[in-house]
Amino acid sequence: MRLVVRRLGRIKLMLLITAISVVMAVALNLIFSFLFDTDAPLLQSIIRAAVIPLFIAPLVSWYLLGLLIDLDQLEAEMNKLATYDDLTGLYNRRALFKSCHLLHRLAVRTKETYCVVIIDLDFFKKINDQYGHAAGDQVLKSFGLILKRVTRDCDLAGRMGGEEFCIYLSNTKQVQVEPIVKRLNKEIQNNLPNYDGTQINYTISLGVAENRPDLEMSFEDILKKADIALYEAKNSGRNRSVFFQH
Ligand code: GH3
Ligand code: MG
Ligand code: MG
Repeated sequence: MRLVVRRLGRIKLMLLITAISVVMAVALNLIFSFLFDTDAPLLQSIIRAAVIPLFIAPLVSWYLLGLLIDLDQLEAEMNKLATYDDLTGLYNRRALFKSCHLLHRLAVRTKETYCVVIIDLDFFKKINDQYGHAAGDQVLKSFGLILKRVTRDCDLAGRMGGEEFCIYLSNTKQVQVEPIVKRLNKEIQNNLPNYDGTQINYTISLGVAENRPDLEMSFEDILKKADIALYEAKNSGRNRSVFFQH
């Protein structure tokens, strides 16, 4: 029904419902006259049967179609909120991991290697403290755009929360991640966000973990390994990537 509403629109559908109501009312009236052999003149009763729904159907259908359209828009909005991160437009944590689990199962079945990368912005608290929260938001937005640009359509990129992001690189071996990291860093340096005329310099730390079919690991296992690698990247000085060694 919603598809029909979307395709035809409120006005066309209202006219259609009105036309159907008129035809049905006239048809029912004819059946009624035929079955019960009423004395009323046929033409007069047909006109009456056509005129009544002609007034009622547009009002009722216009109102009900309006409700249906509102419901449709609300549902679309709810789906958007449940799937995407408001600030960056990337997948939110829930949607990201749901899709990651699906891709993981596919990778296991097709015996494919993939990589998970957890990215954390360095000293982000300092950026907030120095330039303000709105500037921090600007940095997150800018980085979100870069992540979208750098990842392929078959990859997944999402915001895990705060200043922490995650990418799932389908059909990718660990050695292939190095150039992606280089590109990410290059894009960051070439697109430093501007806030109130001030360019904000920032860096990222990355933890990378590869899942090969022979490892027989769950997605959670791989995520944990990527997190351990990220922890190492932070502890060894930040602004670097660490690859988990299985
Ligand atoms: P590290 O290099 O160890 O990662 O240090 P850090 O300062 O980046 O990490 P920490 O966890 O100490 O601080 C993260 C900060 O990110 C704290 C929090 O206020 C800020 N933050 C989280 N979400 C948002 C957001 O949506 N917008 C902004 N502007 N700041 C956020
Ligand atoms: Mg951080
Ligand atoms: Mg963090």
